[in-house]
Amino acid sequence: MINNKKCILVIDQGTTSSRAIIFDYKGKVLFQKSIEISQIYPKDGWVEQSPKEIWKSVLEVVKNVIKKAIKKGKSITSVSITNQRETTIVWDRKTGIPIYNAIGWQDRRTSDRCRMLSSKKNIKLIHKKTGLLLDPYFSASKISWILDNIQGARNKANKGELCFGTIDTFLLFKFTNGNSFSTDVTNASRTSLFDIIALKWDMQLCKLFDVPKAILPKVYDCISFFGEINKSFFGINIPILSIIGDQQASSIGQSCTNIGDLKSTYGTGCFILVNTGGEIVYSKNRLISTIAYKINKKTAYALEGSIFTSGSAIKWLRDKLNLLEDASESEAIAKKLKDNKGVYFVPALSGLGAPYWRPNARGAIYGLSLDSGSEEIIRAALESIAYQTADLIKALKADGIHIKKIRVDGGMVSNKWFLQFLSNILDLPIEKPIFSETTSLGAAVLSLIAIGYFKDISDAQKICKIDKVFCPNMREEKRKKLIRGWEVAVNRTISNF
Ligand code: ADP
Repeated sequence: MINNKKCILVIDQGTTSSRAIIFDYKGKVLFQKSIEISQIYPKDGWVEQSPKEIWKSVLEVVKNVIKKAIKKGKSITSVSITNQRETTIVWDRKTGIPIYNAIGWQDRRTSDRCRMLSSKKNIKLIHKKTGLLLDPYFSASKISWILDNIQGARNKANKGELCFGTIDTFLLFKFTNGNSFSTDVTNASRTSLFDIIALKWDMQLCKLFDVPKAILPKVYDCISFFGEINKSFFGINIPILSIIGDQQASSIGQSCTNIGDLKSTYGTGCFILVNTGGEIVYSKNRLISTIAYKINKKTAYALEGSIFTSGSAIKWLRDKLNLLEDASESEAIAKKLKDNKGVYFVPALSGLGAPYWRPNARGAIYGLSLDSGSEEIIRAALESIAYQTADLIKALKADGIHIKKIRVDGGMVSNKWFLQFLSNILDLPIEKPIFSETTSLGAAVLSLIAIGYFKDISDAQKICKIDKVFCPNMREEKRKKLIRGWEVAVNRTISNF
């Protein structure tokens, strides 16, 4: 019997917004609140966020939903935290005050640092132990940059007076008034310092990246007792029973719990994750291996393709070129045009991620004529996200993973034109879920397992339902021609960097 009063709280701290959702035990949303947060671009290739703004926004959204829940007589039995990954914060252990802004996952300032480390031996070591490639995307080089560039930081770090954390760890530390300094295996697996086979921080990698072990948090399974939101915040203590990185959470929220299940999220970036079960599959085509989750002592792995610019290209057209008032306008504009008129946009606005891994690449638009205008550029931006996905599917295929369908989520999936074009370019069915906040849903599943309401991860299917399926309807010849045009554009871009 379900007690209708009991519910769970999910905190989803993303790149562009902080969100809190209260679910009942059936996965139904009872209350939600989200707040947009800003990104700071101090220099070419640098992306930062204010930890103070992140913390304030999280406090505000959580306060909002807890207040509503209490008013309706609900009781919150547990909290799950899910978060943008790799984004790096270093703070003072005693005061909890960050010594520098959060360095965002898209930040490229450590490209040279990574290049200096890029011997064959190091690249092999990093890949074998962490499943990752050597790239500024992951936290390790960002941590070391902060320690080297903030006065006195390295000395303090060596003495254990500083803490490093991804956003989950920072929020946990804050909510527990500094009593818990921990993370989960999925977030740890994105640092380049975590051995994904031994499941512990690796001293050889810490030495390589010059990161002292003293500043690293303790690592737990995704479902663990991480601490309690201290009652000084909202008048009640609430246990934090799970932590998981956002892409891993959305994979669970899409019920990708069997080997071969794939989801693709279209938010700021695009992240494809394929469940590979208990086995680590090492890609020969520049995809990365990562931890999907560790629950009840069982570890599942995933193969991941990360595209750094997807929805952010649309945001860039809106905010920097003023071509759109709102991202949603892009749908009608793309639909209106018969085709792309030969215009291709390579959105390397934060370098290029998988499968190219060119941190220094920059965006380019090709094929412009007197006949091209803002509409062609907008359409080319949407198209580019589908082509980049096709690059990843091709890499997966070359790694022996054959995909039959794709489950999609993220802010961009409200764009139906984009989903149909994606289906046409991939020549695959695209499944869109009813509830698009799959990241929060996945985190909610973990809480439901933690409190014993769900038996295990396979119960995710009970609350993940498909809304619409988009099927391919483009002629083979046209599809091939479009993809060829993209390949020419992307190869030209790469050859410049
Ligand atoms: P994140 O979780 O990374 O913060 P979201 O999943 O909230 O991001 O998605 C926001 C992104 O989706 C923004 O970059 C925005 O430009 C893009 N976006 C939102 N709606 C649309 C739309 N209808 N068409 C195209 N892009 C969209």
